[in-house]
Amino acid sequence: MSIASRLDELKKELPDDVRLTAVSKFQTIPLIGEAYAAGQRIFGESRVQELVPKQEQLPKDIEWHFIGHLQQNKVKYIAPFIDTVQSVDSRPLLQELNKQAERNNRIIKVLLQVHIAQEPQKFGFSFEEITAFFKNKPHENLPHLRITGLMGMATQTEDKQQIRAEFSVLATLFFKLKKEYFAENTDFRDLSMGMSDDYLIAIEEGSTIVRIGSKIFGERNY
Ligand SMILES: *Cc1c(COP(=O)(O)O)cnc(C)c1O
Repeated sequence: MSIASRLDELKKELPDDVRLTAVSKFQTIPLIGEAYAAGQRIFGESRVQELVPKQEQLPKDIEWHFIGHLQQNKVKYIAPFIDTVQSVDSRPLLQELNKQAERNNRIIKVLLQVHIAQEPQKFGFSFEEITAFFKNKPHENLPHLRITGLMGMATQTEDKQQIRAEFSVLATLFFKLKKEYFAENTDFRDLSMGMSDDYLIAIEEGSTIVRIGSKIFGERNY
C-alpha cells in the first residue's frame, strides 16, 4: 500500500477534531514528500540533527512538531521554525525555549510530557511535579511560549487494559488542569496520546492529537 492510501485509511478512523502528527523520524525526504503530496502538513521528529536538514529541504508550510527528548543546548537550532514541542520534560527546558523563542521573535507552542508508563526509562514530569508546577502559573510567566496541553506515552505492552488505564489517568489530569487554570483561556486544548499500536484506545480516552509513524510509513529499521 502507498503512503497516500495508508494516510487515507487512517484518516477515516480519526474523528474530525483529532489531529494527526505524522511521525517522520528516520524517514527519507522523498517519503515525507509523498505524505506531504497526499495533504499531510503536521510532521513529528525526535532528533534535532535530523529535523534541521529536513526542514531546510521540505516545503515551508509544514508544521513541525518535536516529539523526542530535547537537549537544552539544541533548542537554538529549531527555535526559528518549530511550531510545537510536544515533549517538554523539565522546567529548565521551558526557560530555554522561552528565551530562544524571544530571540526569534516568535511564540512556540509546548505540551508538557507526563510520565504515565510503568517503564523507568521514559522522560516526563511526574503527576506530583506537574501539579506543583501549575501552581506557579507558568502560562503567565513564559510570554514567548503557549502551553497548549499535555503529552504522554503508554507502556509498551499487549495489555490493553493497562494502556487504557494510563491514558485515562492522563486525560483526567488534563481536564483537571484545564478547569483549574485555563477556565477563561482556550489555549490549553491538546492531549497528545496514541501511537500506531494504541491510537484507537487513546482516542476513546480523549486524545486530540495522535502521533503515528509506522502505520503511515511502514516499519522503521532501527
Ligand atoms: C516514534 C514515536 C512515535 C510513533 O511511533 P509509531 O509506533 O511508529 O507510530 C510516537 N511518539 C513518539 C514520542 C515517538 O518517539
